Amino acid sequence: MIGTAGGKLQTLSQALAYRALRLRIQEKMKDRRTTGRNMELTCATIEGITGVNHTPESLWVSLHRRKKFTLTQKYSAFAWRGIHGAQKVGEYWIQAKKEDWAPCEYCGVPIESMQHILLECKASGQEVIWDLARRAWADTAAEWPPISMGVILGAALMEVKKEDGKKLRGKSRLIQILISESAYLIWLIRNEWRIEHEQDPRKLHTKQEVENRWWAAINKRRNIDWALTNRRAYGRKALAKKDVKNTWDGVPDPKVRNDAVGTGVVVGRASSRRPPGRNR
Ligand SMILES: [Zn+2]
Repeated sequence: MIGTAGGKLQTLSQALAYRALRLRIQEKMKDRRTTGRNMELTCATIEGITGVNHTPESLWVSLHRRKKFTLTQKYSAFAWRGIHGAQKVGEYWIQAKKEDWAPCEYCGVPIESMQHILLECKASGQEVIWDLARRAWADTAAEWPPISMGVILGAALMEVKKEDGKKLRGKSRLIQILISESAYLIWLIRNEWRIEHEQDPRKLHTKQEVENRWWAAINKRRNIDWALTNRRAYGRKALAKKDVKNTWDGVPDPKVRNDAVGTGVVVGRASSRRPPGRNR
């Protein structure tokens, strides 16, 4: 008898263990479906714009290797989480039974999403930021792509070509930098307002604040790029001066422009200082 009861107990605990395992597998499958869907969407979007067909593997590799210092580690981690649907927004809070945190109350959107934050929200500074990025690109004479989640998550695969199909290395770097820095800054601003400022509508970032933050981020990248051309410091890893020049040629520098017209307005403060030794 004891043996039978023990057998039953064992069967029961096995059944429970099996159920738990099945739930875990279901969860994993759901995650995988999200990842797979985002990967497909990203690769298809990039192919639609650049004409180059990438595999999900090449997207992973581009995010991990971060060739030529074009993408920051922070953006790469952000894009990686984005592809996995791992950011704690909207749907995540519903699953976690914290429904109060799911909506974007400012916009009256019941379930916030990365798409909402990066492309639609009125509190995240996205409109101002994408406009700045588009304008900074205007001088390149190449087309500015329609910004979508696919372009944001696949920024590492964006490239710009000449009419003869030859890749423009500098401009390809620039478009990757503009898209990745812009998307990441929108995410930061959204988090500051929602978490630090507790969604207080009186503490929204002003247009001027958003603009200053964007120029500071872009000029920081411009300065780092020039600093990375130092062969003595970086040896074979150093960036080629020609590539860096081609990257930034035509991108206005508000600090220089304002100095030139004598308004004395300095945007970006300390971070827009250039590395020593560069000819102005
Ligand atoms: Zn919103």
